[in-house]
Amino acid sequence: MHPDLLTPVTALKGVGEKRAKLLQKLGIETVFDLVTYYPRAYEDRTQIKPIAETDDGELVCIEGTVAAPVSARHIRKGLDLAKVRVVDDSGSANLTFFNQPFVKDQLLVGETYCFYGKIDVKGYHREMNTPVFEPIEKTPLKTRRLIPVYPLTAGLPAHQISAYIRAALARYANELSDPIPDEVRMRENLSFARFAYENIHYPVDETSLEIARKRLIYEELFLLSLGLLRFKSRRRDLAGTAMKAVDLSRFEASLPFALTGAQKRAVADAVGDLQKPLPMNRLVQGDVGSGKTVVAAACAYFAQQNGYQTALMAPTEILAEQHLLTLKEMMEPLGIRVALLTGSMTAATKRGVKAALSAGEIDVLIGTHAILTEDVAFSKLGLVITDEQHRFGVRQRAALTAKGENPHLLVMSATPIPRTLALILYGDLEVSIIDELPPGRKPVGTYAVDDTKRDRAYGFVRSHLDAGRQAYIVCPLVEENDTAELKSVEEFAKQLAKQHLAGYRIEILHGRMKGKEKENIMRQFAAGEIHVLVSTTVIEVGVNVPNATVMVIENAERFGLSQLHQLRGRVGRGAEQSHCILFSESKGGVTRERLRVLCKTNDGFVISEEDLRLRGPGDLFGTKQHGFPDLKIADLARDLEVLRAAQASAKELLAQDPELSDPIHAETKARMLMLFDRREYGDTFN
Ligand code: ADP
Ligand code: MG
Repeated sequence: MHPDLLTPVTALKGVGEKRAKLLQKLGIETVFDLVTYYPRAYEDRTQIKPIAETDDGELVCIEGTVAAPVSARHIRKGLDLAKVRVVDDSGSANLTFFNQPFVKDQLLVGETYCFYGKIDVKGYHREMNTPVFEPIEKTPLKTRRLIPVYPLTAGLPAHQISAYIRAALARYANELSDPIPDEVRMRENLSFARFAYENIHYPVDETSLEIARKRLIYEELFLLSLGLLRFKSRRRDLAGTAMKAVDLSRFEASLPFALTGAQKRAVADAVGDLQKPLPMNRLVQGDVGSGKTVVAAACAYFAQQNGYQTALMAPTEILAEQHLLTLKEMMEPLGIRVALLTGSMTAATKRGVKAALSAGEIDVLIGTHAILTEDVAFSKLGLVITDEQHRFGVRQRAALTAKGENPHLLVMSATPIPRTLALILYGDLEVSIIDELPPGRKPVGTYAVDDTKRDRAYGFVRSHLDAGRQAYIVCPLVEENDTAELKSVEEFAKQLAKQHLAGYRIEILHGRMKGKEKENIMRQFAAGEIHVLVSTTVIEVGVNVPNATVMVIENAERFGLSQLHQLRGRVGRGAEQSHCILFSESKGGVTRERLRVLCKTNDGFVISEEDLRLRGPGDLFGTKQHGFPDLKIADLARDLEVLRAAQASAKELLAQDPELSDPIHAETKARMLMLFDRREYGDTFN
């Protein structure tokens, strides 16, 4: 990349410190940032009509000659009016400008200008209020073309951003080299880089814009694919430890249930990988409640029998604590030592766990991000498992695997990503899908109701509690806003204790509680000592108490469908029929339609597709959390076909030049590294 492109925006004329600050708010620091600050939409000003043919309310360009001098009047403080009559072959129009006294000097009698604005038809007269205009013989900038619409920040109007981008392109366009190698560009029928950058910002016409978009989307996905593939090959090149075959029948026999066919297949896939001399990279995908934990346990058992330690990383302390309980129950009878390490444990306890770990006295260590700190040393780490993988980025996975000698890696996720997309996104992972629920599961009966049903709904909850079951009540509170969270969960619980659920043991659970407190509450809830758990979404992932058969979700409209599905997955985990009541105030059609989807199906894949249809792609797939770079123009859901093509080209290129060390690929490499910001990815990629 030409170093000039990385100069700060202040190098441009008219951009001082103040403007630079505003641009920074938009993530624009360098000239290159400016050039790649793509419009989010375009305003179509391409329509030009003879004045007499324009319609009332129409947004249109007219080409008019100034018929008489502009009459400018100062009405009062803050109100200046300028009026002018323009004519063309078909007729005339009266233009009025508010508070633009300078038009008097800009619009000259006998000269022709193009005006863009909204037409008002008043009787036989046509009018336009404060149109934008420019001389007809000058290159069109504001009229007769597609005008880019940029995401804005206060104090920085669109035309200014647009002007800076023009200035940047005018001055630096020759410095823009092409990150797409010529043969790829030609084979894929892509335009030159310069054409694309110019036409994405000020397209000559619809066709040029399409050509520009096509190229830039391809470019971004090509660079993304290169980065992901290199990450994969880095790990591929590593030697892993091949473990010996282990008879799992003792483990299976100790379980209180028989594995489902899908669980057996996932276990077989994973232990197959463990016996290869390459590090395993496997994603186990299974809907909520499909039983992924036991797959993890089987692998940990397998590793332990081979003399290796396993690290199991969970996204929240609650989930880590719960895994501790589950795995202890499954594994301790087999002589396997399971321990917990989380950030909220006391320093002394942590020290003890760390010492035991490095002495090899712990076989399975369960924890949160705390396992990633540097002073956690394993004596012989052979397997890393991350649960609910969507919460972890590429980077964290890399940090954890660095703790052993290329340990095997198993990631578990309930995020229902369409399979094709998963295979491409996790280019570096093999995938096992658990597509079968344990036998006897009944779909969770789900009802969307409004406040008028509150008494009935809580009566229903009470009937379950009286039958010995337990309930979750979820309040949608913003995790980041600590105090608000605390207050409303507590208050809501108090209110329930006074009113609808008087006489039952109610406890609260939220993200601000200490690890010990949470553990305590979870243990009591799991033991059936607590009837009702009022909670924030901290229970969203993984929590498993089969006797809890009712869930009430307050303000359900504030959650995404996939998130509601995850939450609902906390019930329906045993043989009992479970129920989920979704309260929403909103009578809006879309809200109702969304919630109805949940009432109709329990299939996570169907729900994610509906979510996609109703909400649009956005960050639905949580790509930010996957550790993927921010994409500026491509959309993983929409541009799947392009992604496929770009990935094929990327593979081909890496086959020829695995390190991208050939000087003709210097730009490609530089841009790939830029996409995978070094601050985030360290030297994973170079
Ligand atoms: P998830 O895939 O959501 O992590 P879990 O591993 O927490 O699911 O399992 C959900 C529940 O199903 C647990 O109570 C677990 O004991 C139970 N379970 C898992 N596998 C089976 C099986 N094969 N038969 C019966 N119950 C099972
Ligand atoms: Mg789980």
